[in-house]
Amino acid sequence: KAPDPAIEEIKQKMTSVKHKILVLSGKGGVGKSTFSAHLSHALASDSSKEVALLDVDICGPSIPKIMGLEGEQVHQSGSGWSPVYVEDNLAVMSIGFLLSSPDDAVIWRGPKKNGMIKQFLRDVDWGEVDYLIVDTPPGTSDEHLSIVQYLSGAGIDGAVIITTPQEVSLQDVRKEIRFCKKVNLPILGVIENMSGFVCPKCKNTSQIFPPTTGGAQRMCEELNLPLLGRIPLDPRIGKSCDEGKSFLTEVPDSPAAAAYQSIVQKI
Ligand code: ADP
Repeated sequence: KAPDPAIEEIKQKMTSVKHKILVLSGKGGVGKSTFSAHLSHALASDSSKEVALLDVDICGPSIPKIMGLEGEQVHQSGSGWSPVYVEDNLAVMSIGFLLSSPDDAVIWRGPKKNGMIKQFLRDVDWGEVDYLIVDTPPGTSDEHLSIVQYLSGAGIDGAVIITTPQEVSLQDVRKEIRFCKKVNLPILGVIENMSGFVCPKCKNTSQIFPPTTGGAQRMCEELNLPLLGRIPLDPRIGKSCDEGKSFLTEVPDSPAAAAYQSIVQKI
């Protein structure tokens, strides 16, 4: 089979993008999009860095809402599609910007999804970017295979895998890790999200999900992967996301915001 010419075109386009990081999770609802959004905010808090966030969750794009960009549309410029800017140095692209209403459903088969991902990588006017963060759908599906394939010539730094401390989520992470190994995608590390709940009143930590503590840490030790950080469950995260605001600027002195700051140092 002849190689897809788009791979070479994407490689050319991506020469202006220094780091490319995929955010993966085995399950939905573990906080992957929330993490992708806040990692992007945290990286962009350094105004000398240019950050781009690409949402390839074609069937369930939640990035526009979390980034406070619902109702925004992309514009066609001379050199491609212009992303939507949250800050001067934070650009966002999502299928959500191409839908006429946030309630529209995208029911597409694999080839059409792949075509859209190709367009996102090749036809968006990203400009000079230090970090491209790619939020993917849960599990391992067409979207993952096509993003890995299309970026294969351009080089991907690696994947960050999000899990909760719960065994059902950890189990799916193991599958995700096997996928990464199969497609030669380096794993930058694992994030344990919703890792304990810090009571705002008494400041004590309670474990919400079994096994009580250390599930992700044990798995990382066993599989020789770095645990990049633990982000506690904080209801204010959900509130900020629903309001489309960055939790990091809304509640900067929280343990969860501190966890993000420490994770950014390791990325
Ligand atoms: P995914 O992308 O994995 O499907 P989301 O990022 O959409 O998951 O998160 C699922 C829900 O959990 C959202 O309502 C989000 O606001 C909430 N959430 C994510 N992380 C946290 C956290 N650390 N503390 C509290 N709520 C969180």
